Amino acid sequence: MKCHNVERNCTWEGTVGTVDQHVATCQFTLLLCPKQCKDDNNEPNHFIRKDLEDHLKKNCPNRDYTCRYCGKKGTYATITQVHNKICQMKIVPCTYTGCHQTMRRHHIAKHVESECEYTVIACKHKSIGCETKLKRKDMAAHELDDKLHLHMAINTITLLKENITQLNETTSQLKEILKENYGITLKQGESMNIRFVDYQKVRKSSSFHLFTPVMAIMWLLQYTLMDMVLARAHTYQY
Ligand SMILES: [Zn+2]
Ligand SMILES: [Zn+2]
Ligand SMILES: [Zn+2]
Ligand SMILES: [Zn+2]
Ligand SMILES: [Zn+2]
Repeated sequence: MKCHNVERNCTWEGTVGTVDQHVATCQFTLLLCPKQCKDDNNEPNHFIRKDLEDHLKKNCPNRDYTCRYCGKKGTYATITQVHNKICQMKIVPCTYTGCHQTMRRHHIAKHVESECEYTVIACKHKSIGCETKLKRKDMAAHELDDKLHLHMAINTITLLKENITQLNETTSQLKEILKENYGITLKQGESMNIRFVDYQKVRKSSSFHLFTPVMAIMWLLQYTLMDMVLARAHTYQY
């Protein structure tokens, strides 16, 4: 008689007594993948015995697999489809257009932050008013442009001088008010912060009901002015 697997091309022929023995080792017997992998319709995959070994070695998505970058173990499917996207040791290209550098994924953030020639960074002379932002590779040449930055520095100094003049005028007026009305004398160079304590004392001890409405408004204006000056004194340490 012929083998049960004759439709799968088994050419075996033998006696009824030996057929079971043959089928147990027949290379055309259909077997379930021992790794329980599924086909596209989520049905368990079957293979004829002679193809199973090859499938387990080369194609089974559930076969054991090791990440070649970090050594993490898992199945072929999870390592190549899930882990591969997050493996910190994988060599990946920088995400900035134009930069062709490749590096381990964990180094990307540092590279972009402090090395990548294509990251856009701010000019180091921002404090003197330069708003320029360029790719790191072009910034060195820009920052070396002393003429441009000197011009900005002069403008900034001019503005600062105007501010200081205004501030000095306001402070002189305020000193007068403090001296005349409260007998407080602010010495040259004395920190506004020290005098702030006096200012708060005056504010606490004052009783508004003694004032006429006009005096009350004047009083409030003084405080507003003083608040402004004190706020600026913090910045300039006048
Ligand atoms: Zn057979
Ligand atoms: Zn399989
Ligand atoms: Zn890995
Ligand atoms: Zn880069
Ligand atoms: Zn600049």
